[in-house]
Amino acid sequence: MRYFVFLLAAGLVAQPQHGVRPARMIVKGAMVVEGTGTPAQGPLDITIENGVITQIARGSQSRPGDVEIDARGKYVLPGFINMHGHLHQERGGVPMDPNYVLKLWLACGITTVRDVGSNLQFTLDTKAKSARGEVVAPRLFAYPVLGRPGTPEAAVNRVKELKSRGVDGMKIVGAWRNTFDAAAQEASAARLPIAIHIGVEETTAADAIRNKVATIEHWYGIPDAALAAGVQNFPSTYNYMNEADRFRYAGRLWREADPKKLAAVLDGMIANNVAWDPTLEIYEASRDLQRAQNQPWFKDYLHPVLAAFFEPNLANHGSYFINWSSTDETYWKENFRLWLAAVRDFEARGGTITMGEDAGYIYQMYGFGMLRNFELHQEAGFHPLRIIKHATVNGAKVLGAEGTLGRVRAGWAADLLIVNGNPLEDFKVLYPVTPNAGTKTGIEWTIKAGFPYHVPRLMTEVKSLVDQARKP
Ligand SMILES: [Zn+2]
Repeated sequence: MRYFVFLLAAGLVAQPQHGVRPARMIVKGAMVVEGTGTPAQGPLDITIENGVITQIARGSQSRPGDVEIDARGKYVLPGFINMHGHLHQERGGVPMDPNYVLKLWLACGITTVRDVGSNLQFTLDTKAKSARGEVVAPRLFAYPVLGRPGTPEAAVNRVKELKSRGVDGMKIVGAWRNTFDAAAQEASAARLPIAIHIGVEETTAADAIRNKVATIEHWYGIPDAALAAGVQNFPSTYNYMNEADRFRYAGRLWREADPKKLAAVLDGMIANNVAWDPTLEIYEASRDLQRAQNQPWFKDYLHPVLAAFFEPNLANHGSYFINWSSTDETYWKENFRLWLAAVRDFEARGGTITMGEDAGYIYQMYGFGMLRNFELHQEAGFHPLRIIKHATVNGAKVLGAEGTLGRVRAGWAADLLIVNGNPLEDFKVLYPVTPNAGTKTGIEWTIKAGFPYHVPRLMTEVKSLVDQARKP
């Protein structure tokens, strides 16, 4: 009793409890980045009621919150929207606890994930539980893979089947032209947006543009549509099914694109509202294998099942590092330079760039891959405020959630991050494991739909999942 009186006398209000949504929460004294690309401002108090931001104002709230977070000296950003996630439950056929994936995503500030291919029923179930606050997880949008139907009729039937299961959109990969056209027509009638992963196949970005897809994932089909010779100059021994070949020569694709043709492809995307989700970081191992293999968070947080999957092995997608040479890395460095310039040019011409990670492959851990993208977008030459927009507002726009997600603004969902340090100065402050010694950094709280998650607690839980899995 005496303690209670003391609390009242000192004017202290309760701290939030991990995973418990208070009716009314106030984040006090924060520097706020709205997400639209406008400058930071503060100190401001953010009032959150029942999962929605209801007020953002300077100090002196009419009444205190049930809980309050002291955000003086901290930055508040909108929760990140990962446009290319996979809710993996296994790697290479070996089971892996999906809570590992979900907790890492939240710990790295991701409050929304567009799942572009995993176990559909599990994703739909997790999506529903997440919406009810029954699982520690981001919001999910289900974009399952169409598969590779052999005929236009089969493609139409598959789209109908996906629609009946309640998906939010779909991902198409490895498409022939006639099946892609049929699927796209049916998807458009069913109002299901398409994310297309265009590798080097019959279809290129030109087909994606014609079919007005929502996003182009990765990049290959873009320079492929701009080749002067119509086909890349592959050596006679090249085999597309051999991933060492595929990724090696992908590193020599951008240099073969004709700049004039490329500009026309980018303009075609823009004119048809096709956004670009480049997933930059998932290719970084190709230009610097040692960096990728030695990330500081692997020691305590790399799940052994994921670690085994990353080992060079042509049977596992993305584990193609067999005789990977300094020559390969040199080509890939040039490839990145040309690619980053195209991404930058795309936005300058009016295009929409989003951010997605594709983690769970090629030495990228869930969440950490997303954060590495902030640095790579910076390397492409974007201002930090624009980069935050890529990861928030632009994703919301492409998901059709422009009016509810992606901003720190009254009326929007309470998906926000309370960050130790200034991410506009240094994106490395976002990592839950600091690569820099010294000051305290990392996201302190990830709030999703008003549910506060304490990031140090999430990381402790991730570590114990990893410790358990590592036991012989
Ligand atoms: Zn993917």
